[in-house]
Amino acid sequence: MNALDRFSLVDRVAVVTGGTRGLGAGFARALGDAGAAVVLVGRDSEAADGVLDSLRSNDIRADFVRADVTVAADVEQVLEATLSLHGRVDVLINNAGACVHAPALDVTPEDWRAVMDVNLDAVWTCSQTFGRQFVSQGSGSIVNIGSMSGFIVNRPQWQPAYNASKAAVHHLTRSLAAEWAPHGVRVNALAPGYIKTDMSPVDDPQFRQHWIEDAPMQRYGAVEELAPAVVFLASDASSFVTGSVLVADGGYTAF
Ligand code: NDP
Repeated sequence: MNALDRFSLVDRVAVVTGGTRGLGAGFARALGDAGAAVVLVGRDSEAADGVLDSLRSNDIRADFVRADVTVAADVEQVLEATLSLHGRVDVLINNAGACVHAPALDVTPEDWRAVMDVNLDAVWTCSQTFGRQFVSQGSGSIVNIGSMSGFIVNRPQWQPAYNASKAAVHHLTRSLAAEWAPHGVRVNALAPGYIKTDMSPVDDPQFRQHWIEDAPMQRYGAVEELAPAVVFLASDASSFVTGSVLVADGGYTAF
């Protein structure tokens, strides 16, 4: 097998949580381009239809399972639906996420819970649910979408819950990787810098000035620049990589 063949996801099935827009839609496209059948997971059926149309028009086999990843029964149903559609599952991308921008003293208990529920608890629930399947079949790759915010503190739009959740996701990645490596299951994370999506206040002038001026590359990233890293971590191209947190932030956290 040559090096490029190792990136192939032909005959593999990938589940992408939060695949209905933003980064998740871009990751689904890249996984599909690499040959995978993709299952999008989210709550917004209308948004999902747009992504499905785009994927299918590019000859990618794609389906949508409507689910709230913070609800364990929904997550179980995603696994069951995927197995019933494809008879197999190989890749889980834990991408669904949420952010509340507020200084620490203004964060309500509800804000804190809402962020932790999606960014951390749901990553755990999805990983455990799919992990059971992966361990029993002796193969599988989980890619958690962390953030450079798991290493540094975002400002001037403070987001303490988000930062804490992403740092926890990075360490959960290592914990699960160590435990499941003997079972043929790899667990890695991708830690992106700022990318323009609904979540990022990238058009805010103060934010823009701060992040662009301090960024070594002097720009935000694009989903197309992250997606190949997800394909790498999902595929056999990274067969000796587990427990890693791959930073893709234009060098921001390196300096
Ligand atoms: P978006 O806000 O554009 O998209 C969030 C996605 O998460 C949507 O598809 C949404 O689907 C899904 N989602 C949220 N809550 C739930 C839920 N309870 N159940 C199911 N799906 C849910 O965010 P991004 O694309 O920007 O972010 C994707 C990931 O990348 C997140 O984990 C984020 O933290 C991370 N990230 C983003 C960065 C950026 O600059 N954009 C930088 C670093 C990390 P639906 O509405 O259909 O439920």
